[in-house]
Amino acid sequence: MEHKIVIAIDGYSGCGKSTTAKIVAKTLGYLYIDSGAMYRTVTLYFLENEVDYTQTQEVLKALSHINIHFDYNPDTNKNDTYLNGKNVESEIRKMYISDNVSTISKIPEVRKAMVKFQKNIGAQKGVVMDGRDIGTQVFPDAELKIFMTADVFVRAQRRQMELLAKGEETPLQDIIDNLQKRDHIDTTRAESPLRKADDAFLLDSTYIDIEEQTNFVIKLAKEVAKSVMVNDK
Ligand code: C5P
Repeated sequence: MEHKIVIAIDGYSGCGKSTTAKIVAKTLGYLYIDSGAMYRTVTLYFLENEVDYTQTQEVLKALSHINIHFDYNPDTNKNDTYLNGKNVESEIRKMYISDNVSTISKIPEVRKAMVKFQKNIGAQKGVVMDGRDIGTQVFPDAELKIFMTADVFVRAQRRQMELLAKGEETPLQDIIDNLQKRDHIDTTRAESPLRKADDAFLLDSTYIDIEEQTNFVIKLAKEVAKSVMVNDK
């Protein structure tokens, strides 16, 4: 039997990390975990409940009331996110969540809780997780690390199409501003900022399509899994 590994996919906002991660997981028969969905769900809860996130005690109290789980359907390759039993998948993808999520993700208590949760669900092998700090913080020992980037204009155009498909018409400039704002906050925050792990492969998706992106990762994953198996013998 083929050896199962952990695949960490990090990178800038809107590079196609989750699309790639989902297809890679499905092809390899691995578990897919969308860590960004967790931060988006926490953001939704904080906004809905008007949590004063400048107060540590308020943050901790709110976190203790948040229960997140995923429901992944391998047939449709759709991954639904639930907050306290309610499907919030489409809500957490809206622009008002994207506009606030990086500010909430900076809060150390939020990161601590999410990283603990991610480590727990990812403790088994055969996992693909995408995010910003997966290769550096959550799974520093992941056997395969990918760091994705792409031109911001191309990223914004792709995101605009995704939002449009869901009926949300958004000006391109608003999306560019949002991606740049999130990239800035994510790369400059004090707590586990977004950065490429030294041992991560760089994947620039500007001029390649989803198939090429996923083939690149799948080929590497198979090679790494094989070499891990040889080394284990
Ligand atoms: O991946 P996605 O774009 O949905 O992530 C939304 C936001 O969640 C990011 O812009 C970032 O602020 C935060 N995030 C994070 N660490 C992760 C995943 C996401 O800080 N591992």
